[in-house]
Amino acid sequence: MPIDPTQPYDDNNIFARILRGELPSKTVYEDDSALAFHDINPLAPVHILVIPKGSYVSWDDFSQKASDAEIAGFIRAVGKVAREEGLVAQGYRVLANIGMRGGQEVPHLHAHIFGGEPLGPMLA
Ligand code: C5P
Repeated sequence: MPIDPTQPYDDNNIFARILRGELPSKTVYEDDSALAFHDINPLAPVHILVIPKGSYVSWDDFSQKASDAEIAGFIRAVGKVAREEGLVAQGYRVLANIGMRGGQEVPHLHAHIFGGEPLGPMLA
């Protein structure tokens, strides 16, 4: 069920619980700003989620309230994960679903990294 991106942050959402170590994840990268882990339901040979460590519901929330250091850290983490996964030469996709029409299901900002095969048109 897609979420309302203007809702207050829910401390018990699944990704908050992963960040606190209460739920497992297949972590591929972590630094002060971000955590990256394999999506539990991969839609491509490589499907990784990158989340900021701060409590932000959506891209909208993050882009308004996060510090420049948090934003830089998150963007750099996405790029670093893609490089470390060997995706740069062949190309890959970064996608963030935002709110109801965007189909966002988890109310903690996340960027999807897809790769490992030709990805086809964006909305196919
Ligand atoms: O962008 P959206 O909110 O729709 O994506 C949520 C993603 O989180 C889904 O791809 C889902 O498979 C993934 N997920 C996960 N681990 C969980 C719960 C959801 O990787 N425990």
